[in-house]
Amino acid sequence: MMEGVRELVALGRRQWWSRSRLEGFQLERLRRLLRHAAANVPFYRELYGKAGIDVEEVRTLEDLRRLPVVRREDLQARPQEELIADGVDPARVIRTRTSGSTGVPLEILSRRRDRSVFNPSFFRSYLAWGLRPWHRMTYFQARPEKLVERSWYEPLGIFRRQMLSSLDPPERSLEAIASWRPHLIHGYSLTLKLLAEAAVRRGVQVPVPLVASTSGVLDEVGRDLIRRAFGARILDIYASEEAGSVMAWQCPRCEGHHLCLDTVVVEIVRDGRPVGPGEEGAVLVTNLSNFTMPLIRYEQGDIVRRSSREPVCGRGLPLIESVQGRAGDYVVLTSGRRLTPHPFFLVLDHALGVGRWQVVQESLERIVVRVTASATGEPPDRGFIVEGIRRLVGPGVAIEVEVVERLRDDPSRKLRSVVSRLPESAIGRE
Ligand SMILES: [Zn+2]
Repeated sequence: MMEGVRELVALGRRQWWSRSRLEGFQLERLRRLLRHAAANVPFYRELYGKAGIDVEEVRTLEDLRRLPVVRREDLQARPQEELIADGVDPARVIRTRTSGSTGVPLEILSRRRDRSVFNPSFFRSYLAWGLRPWHRMTYFQARPEKLVERSWYEPLGIFRRQMLSSLDPPERSLEAIASWRPHLIHGYSLTLKLLAEAAVRRGVQVPVPLVASTSGVLDEVGRDLIRRAFGARILDIYASEEAGSVMAWQCPRCEGHHLCLDTVVVEIVRDGRPVGPGEEGAVLVTNLSNFTMPLIRYEQGDIVRRSSREPVCGRGLPLIESVQGRAGDYVVLTSGRRLTPHPFFLVLDHALGVGRWQVVQESLERIVVRVTASATGEPPDRGFIVEGIRRLVGPGVAIEVEVVERLRDDPSRKLRSVVSRLPESAIGRE
């Protein structure tokens, strides 16, 4: 149990290291992982063997680019025992699932020590934003078994958590939060948005200093609602199960998110080449902690923008400008241009008679907009929606509006407002 404390202390120190020291540390960990994977994991043994790659020749981060990219489908196509290290008993591992835009979950296998950095990596960002051990927190969880999870330090009055289900009606969660009076609320961006929406609708203001948002981009509408409902500052955290820790977190002082060089390698690429400062590209992540089921140059399916700024806070961790969203959150036009979700909010959030909505790009030629009726009971303004989206996507695309009883959430309630069903390969490239 002290391992988490040790990790947190180490993470806390390393963020202030110089860039070159951090890069040296990262490279050392990377080489250890590559050696292990090439020797002990059947999948990588074969992958690198076929490509004629000797991982000993990876001596710099640039050399990493010689290794093949690993996609979710590559892993899903193989039996699990080929993905994990020789000698690991599959019956004795921790299994976590992650759902992608294709909706087919990938199971990530790990052991306890592979995960020791996971929680501390979140706490590093909370601490930077002023969370202190005596502060209370509210955590939203989708999985019921997590709701009873308690850390050993909580009974000592340290970082005490209230666990709420992200599947509960927001009104009920609001009451629980109002009586717990947390310093921090942590949850999926959509959960937080619905919560804040409910508070604003009911005219209740619950003061909460800090709201930490993960999984999905919190759009401007959501940010605004959270500020109004809680008066909170917003900390955006970019993390994934595949990465095994936080990949990047928003800095309270810098303009941007700090990349966690000490726990992951994040490459930002377009057409296989790293993008320049200020440019956006697809994320390839290498999890430096998971030696049970290594993920090396794994295509995360997100689009981020590299920053052209240097940190002003003194941290050695470099900056990315923003997390633009999942590759599957983009609508791709026949010209190859990608549209971010943002302009769709401008149309749908202003359409009369619309409750919740989702835009689904079924193909290059067809977009389906699903909406629920608003509480006012007036019919959704189809003409406005079709006309607005037509302006965004241009001619040659069929736009259909369907009014539905309710929108289907995925079990974790990470409903995405804009979804493209085009293959990821068509979205990540231009
Ligand atoms: Zn900073």
